[in-house]
Amino acid sequence: MPELPEVETVARDLRPLVLGATIVRSRCSWARTLRTHDPARFAEAVAGHAIEAVGRRAKLLVIRLSGGLVLTIHLKMTGQLFVVPAAVPEDPYVRLVLELADGREIRFRDIRKFGKVGLYEVDDASGEPLTERGGAAVFGDLGPEPLDEAFTVRAFRRRVRARRGRLKPLLLDQSFLAGVGNIYADEALWAARLHPLRSAVTLRRDDERRLYEAIRAILAEAVERRGSSIDDYTAPDGDGAMQERLQVYQRTGEACPRCGRPIRRIVVGARSTHFCSWCQRLRAADRKAAAAILRGAGGGTGSRTEQTRRAAETRRAAARAAMSAG
Ligand SMILES: [Zn+2]
Repeated sequence: MPELPEVETVARDLRPLVLGATIVRSRCSWARTLRTHDPARFAEAVAGHAIEAVGRRAKLLVIRLSGGLVLTIHLKMTGQLFVVPAAVPEDPYVRLVLELADGREIRFRDIRKFGKVGLYEVDDASGEPLTERGGAAVFGDLGPEPLDEAFTVRAFRRRVRARRGRLKPLLLDQSFLAGVGNIYADEALWAARLHPLRSAVTLRRDDERRLYEAIRAILAEAVERRGSSIDDYTAPDGDGAMQERLQVYQRTGEACPRCGRPIRRIVVGARSTHFCSWCQRLRAADRKAAAAILRGAGGGTGSRTEQTRRAAETRRAAARAAMSAG
């Protein structure tokens, strides 16, 4: 699933393509893609609004429209965005189309249909989008952006020390930190030499600093490399290249780049978790509680991973071909 670097890349690609364009109509072929409106009301609400800004908050793409509206797009598993001339034939996986006044279309393509698009009014006082019930702000439950300058090691320490639980689920918790998902949580923990099942309360000052620095360094490099094109993620200007730099994610059974021992895979909270049990030692105090999870550790699944990788590459190429046909 696209995380902070992937969504940031989509926002950066999309921005120069659509900034200043006006939405004249919309078509929706899968009503559940729309989180806040039915297709007819959504079409009525967006028509005539100009695109004033394209950005990101956590894993959400945030498009600000004239007239105080905000469009949020959550790509989820397989969501993709393309901007094409209206004459390009539409493939069956396109769920939502925003027709632009200049004859182009923004197409939201989503094979698995988990993606969500929301339309919200902005609160005049705070400038933040409000939920349709006028209640809490849409972004209200999100933690800080890890690449923000204001997010210092001190701020990170304060947040960690207010939490219990294990590191892997903590990093995935969007109210703890915004935008980190499965890929970059595994990579950051490996870089910081911290076991994914280690409890947050046992971190020492130095552990906290290493984790903070690892999270920021990996996310920054991933943004630079346009994200990781694993599965279906691709951006308007093409695939990312960060997948080649991942050290443990989906590398079960391969040699750990630091010590040469095989990367292991366990399931933590229904999410695959990749780590090196030599470089990321579990403290004795955490071992007993983690025993059941660790017993399920898988060995090498290299060939299956390779097959999955190739299938995803084929799907991404098909998506690009479909959007450039005609
Ligand atoms: Zn290792």
